[in-house]
Amino acid sequence: MKTISIAIDGPSGAGKSTLARSIAAKLEYLYVDTGAIYRTIGLYALEHGVDPKDEAAVTACLPDIQVGLEYGDDGLQHMLLNGRDVTKEIRLPDVSLYASAVSAHPPVRAFLLEMQRKLARENNVIMDGRDIGTVVLPDADVKVFLTASAPERARRRCLELEQRGTPQPFEKVLAEIEERDYNDSHRATAPLRQAEDAVLLDTTELDFAQSEAAMMKLIGERV
Ligand code: C5P
Repeated sequence: MKTISIAIDGPSGAGKSTLARSIAAKLEYLYVDTGAIYRTIGLYALEHGVDPKDEAAVTACLPDIQVGLEYGDDGLQHMLLNGRDVTKEIRLPDVSLYASAVSAHPPVRAFLLEMQRKLARENNVIMDGRDIGTVVLPDADVKVFLTASAPERARRRCLELEQRGTPQPFEKVLAEIEERDYNDSHRATAPLRQAEDAVLLDTTELDFAQSEAAMMKLIGERV
């Protein structure tokens, strides 16, 4: 049976995961957070003292890395690194920059590609990331490029970090977002960019309910 795929790409902090999770629950689709998969590789590099910018060093680690993805009773995506549940650790701010650095290496992207495609072959999915509409699922039924201004994304990230009990100063969060935007959109392989057939949704001026309504409308028109 043909499965349905919804691809959501965009820069960090645009609200992709919150929106995708909520819509996946409504439509009873599987939500796949691909950033979490790259974060798992980033965490491995961090824990093993590997320079994440050193492509040869990171590539040499890949045979020792088993990335597992499981869905708990809570319906949430859990990440396993060599069998260990690292769902919480991968959210630490240091891991974000490690994930961004390791994800620039083509062997890392190739290593994770089939895992992502298999999930979409076997399930109706909402998958979010940077290259879902352009590389991972070029034939997705719906493609959305979700964005918001950098200061607005930093403001949202600060709130989220505060709620998690790990607050960070706004200026630091903004600088990290800008650094990741730059890295993600300037790398040679699978850079962050809007697919030609993706719909642009800018949520700078929209609250969550408005963003969700806009996205549901788009999905309704295409699926
Ligand atoms: O989405 P999230 O911020 O968790 O992703 C962490 C990092 O993983 C991003 O900054 C990006 O460099 C990388 N990533 C990627 N391709 C994806 C998803 C994430 O390169 N599909």
